Amino acid sequence: MARYAYVNGRYVDHREAMVHVEDRGYQLADGVYEVVGVRDGRLIDEALHLDRLDRSLSELRIAQPVPRATLKFIIRELMRRNRLRDGLVYMQVTRGVARRDHAFPGTPVKPALVLTTKNSKRAEADAGPGIAVKSQPDIRWQRCDIKTVGLLANVLAKQAARENGAYEAWLIDRQGNVTEGASTNAWIVTKGGELVTRATDNGILAGITRHTLKSLAGDLQLKLVERPFSLAEAKAAQEAFITSATSFVTPVVRIDGDVVGDGKVGPVARRLREEYVRFAAAGEAVT
Ligand code: PMP
Repeated sequence: MARYAYVNGRYVDHREAMVHVEDRGYQLADGVYEVVGVRDGRLIDEALHLDRLDRSLSELRIAQPVPRATLKFIIRELMRRNRLRDGLVYMQVTRGVARRDHAFPGTPVKPALVLTTKNSKRAEADAGPGIAVKSQPDIRWQRCDIKTVGLLANVLAKQAARENGAYEAWLIDRQGNVTEGASTNAWIVTKGGELVTRATDNGILAGITRHTLKSLAGDLQLKLVERPFSLAEAKAAQEAFITSATSFVTPVVRIDGDVVGDGKVGPVARRLREEYVRFAAAGEAVT
């Protein structure tokens, strides 16, 4: 089966999908992206992801490449062509193609829009054995609230984690607090049973999964506090977990080699994952 990508108005064979060498995304990381999870043919929180895309674009003064209704159509058409049932839809918008200069092009150019999909195994309600994370200094810039394709600091942190047998990196700020993961938000459950995640500001990405999980945690009457937590506090926590569009809710059982809680997946992370999968299963069917 041919796999398609969408590139600037055309559905093309994924193997031949290309952008111009002068694309400002390629040259300057002058672009933004979104990842929407797909489970059992359903897009998870599509509207919130498209809202965040609009926000990222407007923060960088990049025009919307197509109206929202068109983008929703392209997402569905690509899912249909690629028979996507489980996985993700990736979309990227860059400022466009122009002669290389750091400043914006003098005469506005058309933003470039690219979409791809990725298949994966269906995410199950079962949380699995949990993952290990490795701490890394947060060396990113001060606008981590914008979902830009400038991900080099995240790439290096994730690679350091992988080389140390960990799945995710937890980024540590100058105060010794955990900001977030390289591509996920970070949460702990304290020994007192409090659910803790850092508040959103320019220091982290306001995860859509984080947002939805906050309301699911509220439904379960869990006590949620949005505040900074240190690496030491995380290591001493009862439970820890990460959230993202692709990892859903994934328990963390080791931090820098130290066991979290009893080293097994805890009841809060387990329950929140189940609830999140239930939420995903209730979404609008697309394919
Ligand atoms: N933080 C960072 C740095 C990320 O890249 C991501 C994934 N896009 C997240 C958090 C989680 O966001 P979401 O739940 O919207 O996938």
